[in-house]
Amino acid sequence: MIRPILKFGATTLQEPARDVGEITGEISRLIDDMIETMYAAPGIGLAAPQIGVPMRMFVVDLSLGHNIGELMTFINPVFVEREGMQLEEEGCLSVPGFNATVARPARAVLKGLDREGREQIVEGKELLARAFQHEMDHLDGMLFLDRVRGIKRDLIVKKIRKLTRSGKW
Ligand SMILES: [Zn+2]
Repeated sequence: MIRPILKFGATTLQEPARDVGEITGEISRLIDDMIETMYAAPGIGLAAPQIGVPMRMFVVDLSLGHNIGELMTFINPVFVEREGMQLEEEGCLSVPGFNATVARPARAVLKGLDREGREQIVEGKELLARAFQHEMDHLDGMLFLDRVRGIKRDLIVKKIRKLTRSGKW
C-alpha cells in the first residue's frame, strides 16, 4: 500500500525513532509499504518516520527499482565506520521541490538487520554513503535542512511557511 509521505513540519519527522523489536508480520507489511511508497514517489530512500512510523528502519534503492539486488532494507542500523567528505546537492521526499548542498562523509559502513532478521554489514560510497546518512538522520529526527546552514536554510524554511499558509504544503 502506498502511504502518504509526511512533510517538513510534521512532528514524527522531528523525533528520534525507537528500535524495532521482533520482526513481526506487521513490521514486514510496513516494509512492503515503505518500498511501494518509495518507488511510487519515486525516491532512492525512505525511512519509516516519513510514513508516520517512529521506528528505526529504512529502505534504499539507488536504481529506483530497475536493478534487482540494489534494494536494501535496514532495521536498527548503526554506523560502523564513516570517513572522508563529499559535498553534493541533496533533496528529500519530505521536503519536495527543494535542494541544498550538504556536506557528508564520503564513505559510510552500516550494520543492521535485513528484513529476515539477519545481520548485514554494507559499505556505502559516494551516493550510497549519502543515502545511508540521510536515512540515518531521519531515524534521529533530523532532515537534510538541519545540516544546511545560514541563508540557504532560512530561505527554504520561509518558502515552506508561505506554502503552508496558502495550503499548498
Ligand atoms: Zn529524506
